[in-house]
Amino acid sequence: MSNVLQTTPHAPAAESPLLDIQHLRKYFGGSSHPVRAVDDVSFTIRQGETLGLVGESGSGKSTIGRLLTRLVDPTEGQMLYHGAGARQDLAALSQAQYRPLRSKIQIIFQDPYASLNPRMRIREVLAEALDTHGLAKGKARLPRIHELLQQVGLRPEHAERFPHEFSGGQRQRIGIARALAVEPTFIVADEPLSALDVSIQAQVVNLLGELKEQLGLTLLFISHDLDVVEYLCDRVVVLYLGRVMEIAPTEALYARPQHPYTRALLAAAPIPDPAQRRSIALLQGDLPSPSNPPSGCVFRTRCPMAEERCASADMQLREVKPDHFHACWKTALTPLSP
Ligand code: ADP
Ligand code: MG
Repeated sequence: MSNVLQTTPHAPAAESPLLDIQHLRKYFGGSSHPVRAVDDVSFTIRQGETLGLVGESGSGKSTIGRLLTRLVDPTEGQMLYHGAGARQDLAALSQAQYRPLRSKIQIIFQDPYASLNPRMRIREVLAEALDTHGLAKGKARLPRIHELLQQVGLRPEHAERFPHEFSGGQRQRIGIARALAVEPTFIVADEPLSALDVSIQAQVVNLLGELKEQLGLTLLFISHDLDVVEYLCDRVVVLYLGRVMEIAPTEALYARPQHPYTRALLAAAPIPDPAQRRSIALLQGDLPSPSNPPSGCVFRTRCPMAEERCASADMQLREVKPDHFHACWKTALTPLSP
């Protein structure tokens, strides 16, 4: 896998990596049985794509988002960032060295209200974001704030209001405006719809899609809503117990899932009521503890296809079709048809 580190000089724009994540680990707790929240995860985020990150609750999705934004520090591994004209390993930077990159790499959280100071007017919230990176100073300030509000579908007069004066959907728009204020190239959206009424989720999804196109952003979209991921994302990474199970273009993943875990996730029949979209349900059997994961394939204790050899199988990703990777040795030998 060493050649993964090299960038092809003439790679088409759509294929060029923005972030190469290599053997990333995050263990919490220093005991002999730490929580292996992220355990040897490797994948690439390409320039300009929307990459979905899905998996059951506790599979390590948020931890990956927090690692990329350095809200937590990695235990091991590399996060090679190809933006800003140079290649930097985000994992190797000190917090001080990472600071200038903070404007390039932003995160949007599930609950924007929790991260908005209730005593600050929206104008002040956005001004604070601009100030941290010395942007739009003096006379340029207010017009920039108004522009940001308009970009996310709010109005200039909203600048004078306080967070409690907004609906949940509007607050998420403010969260997005705050992320955009610092002119990022890459945004991690960690379950940005989960706190919203279903009726307004579609508006926020469309807004993210539009902004991504307009501003040429790259998006890591973390979600447990399989329908929204299918709609919004170009490719999808499937995570289980801190490990990558499968990576594929969205269409291929949904039409021809190859890993038994992905198959189990997608097997849950679509629910006709659009208000009850397909989302990741807990599978049968207990989720093993991330501080004591099964040997070999970590999914084997819940896998309908498991056999003895799985207990010592390695979990390296195999490319079974162009651009389609998964970690099941069995289905790699005999691909599953839909
Ligand atoms: P997800 O976002 O997929 O639900 P998380 O990344 O939040 O998963 O969590 C992955 C695992 O790491 C879980 O077992 C969780 O309990 C654990 N974890 C997350 N953050 C911490 C922390 N700060 N300290 C200890 N354990 C944590
Ligand atoms: Mg999470």
